[in-house]
Amino acid sequence: MPLNIAIDGPAGAGKSTMAKLVAAKMGIVYLDTGAMYRGIACYALSSGASPEKSEEVIPLLDGVKMDISYADGVQKVIINGEDVTPYIREHKISMAASTISKIPEVRLKLVELQREIASHTDCVLDGRDIGSYVLPDADVKIYLDARPEVRATRRLDELKAKGTAGELTYEEILADIVARDYQDTHRDFAPLKVAYGATVIDTSDMTVEEVAEAVTELCEKAGYRA
Ligand code: C5P
Repeated sequence: MPLNIAIDGPAGAGKSTMAKLVAAKMGIVYLDTGAMYRGIACYALSSGASPEKSEEVIPLLDGVKMDISYADGVQKVIINGEDVTPYIREHKISMAASTISKIPEVRLKLVELQREIASHTDCVLDGRDIGSYVLPDADVKIYLDARPEVRATRRLDELKAKGTAGELTYEEILADIVARDYQDTHRDFAPLKVAYGATVIDTSDMTVEEVAEAVTELCEKAGYRA
C-alpha cells in the first residue's frame, strides 16, 4: 500500500512549505490539490464562465482533461494539453478557486483524480479536505493552523519574495484570507475542518524548522522514516 500523508488547513498556514519539505525528505511526491482547484478556476474564467455560476461551470467539466506532471520535482497542472501552471498563482485566482470549489461536481471530478494518484503513489497531499474526505484512512493526518494576521503576513512576504505582490496591501491579503476561510469552512460539501484523528499544529509562533520537526515526528510515530 502506498504511503499517504494528509496535510490540511486554511490558506497561509504553511501547508505547502511543510508538504514540500516532508516530501523531499522522504523522497516521495508532493501533490498540491489547491493547484487543481486553481486550474479549474483558470479554465472556467478563460472559457467565459463565472465561478459562482454552477450552471456555467458544470457543462464545461466534461470537456476538461486534467493531468498532473512533475518537472524537476515541481508540479505542473495541464488542462487539455495546456500547461496552466504559470497562471494559477495570480491573486484573483485564489478567490475564484475557493468559489468554484463549492460546486460538488467540481470537487467530485478532482477528488477522483486525487484518489487515483494516491492509490499508486507514495505522496504528501495538501488541501482542505484530504484527511476528512479524500483519504480518511491516510497514514498520517495533520491540520496546520495559524492566526489570520500571521498567515496574511506570510502570504505577503511570499509574494514579495517572488516579486508578484504588485500593489497588494497587507489589509487586502488579510481580507482575502478571512473571506476564503469563511467560504471554505461554510460550504456544504467537504468543507475545511479538522479531520477525525488529525493532529492539530498551530504554527503561529513556530519556525519552519520547528514545524518540520513536529511533522516529521508524527510521520515517524506512524512508522515512517525519511
Ligand atoms: O491551497 P490553495 O490556497 O492553493 O487552494 C485554493 C482554494 O482551493 C482554497 O481556498 C479552497 O477553496 C480550494 N481547495 C479545496 N480543497 C482542497 C484544496 C483546495 O477546496 N483540497
